[in-house]
Amino acid sequence: MPELPEVEVTRLSFADRIEGAEVLAVHTGKPLRWPLGVDGDELVGWQVGAVQRRGKYLWLPLNARDGRSGGLLMHLGMSGSLSFTAGVGEPGPHDHFDLVTSRGVLRLHDPRRFGAVVWGASQTTGMPGKLLAGLGREPFDAALDGRYVHERLQGRKVSIKQALLAGDIVVGAGNIYACEALFRAGIDPRLAAGKLSRPRCERLLREVQGVLQQAVALGGSSLRDFRDAHGSQGHFQLTTAVYGREGEPCRACGTSVKRVVQGQRSTFFCPNCQKR
Ligand code: ZN
Repeated sequence: MPELPEVEVTRLSFADRIEGAEVLAVHTGKPLRWPLGVDGDELVGWQVGAVQRRGKYLWLPLNARDGRSGGLLMHLGMSGSLSFTAGVGEPGPHDHFDLVTSRGVLRLHDPRRFGAVVWGASQTTGMPGKLLAGLGREPFDAALDGRYVHERLQGRKVSIKQALLAGDIVVGAGNIYACEALFRAGIDPRLAAGKLSRPRCERLLREVQGVLQQAVALGGSSLRDFRDAHGSQGHFQLTTAVYGREGEPCRACGTSVKRVVQGQRSTFFCPNCQKR
């Protein structure tokens, strides 16, 4: 599943090129998770603004010549990827959305169709407003600190790993990134979230930020078939300390990396380096 770094890598791979392009046509294929919410023909002639990311969503602002504005909120679901190229062929059986512009075609390829493209007048109204409402803070928000994380974890009995994955405090720590950040912070993933001290919350937040930054720099993780809008794969998964390494020696101490299942997701950790 594309996580925050993969979505950010996708954004970086086409945002500069599509900004300022004019919409020439909108083509939709099979139904995605939610309906588009606008007649695509109405968007012809609108201009694409600066693409933004919020959590795992991308927001493509669109502006009409008569001053109207809105945008498309896009989500890659479980298996989606976006490409942005000129000279694209006819949509294939898994291509369900094309935004044809004066600079190329932005195409959503999504075999499992859990992805979405929805129209809204802004990010805070209509369907986009609903989808973005429950999201936690952005990990690179300069105002975010360990005190906030600590306050929000108070009283939570769920494990710290599951609290991270929930994404309602800080977005972006998907499974691979949550495992790696907890390893770097030396925190046992099974520890009850409410028991984490404030200094350990600060450390964890720094490690979440570091892991996500590194993942973006490496082009994300290609766990299944992630590709950015140029068709390039990411390499973060090749650098993991614990994720996907059950039974292999910890890179720090040599102890066998352990795997447990938490909330139906695999957690990988070093029982020696990571403490309760
Ligand atoms: Zn270790």
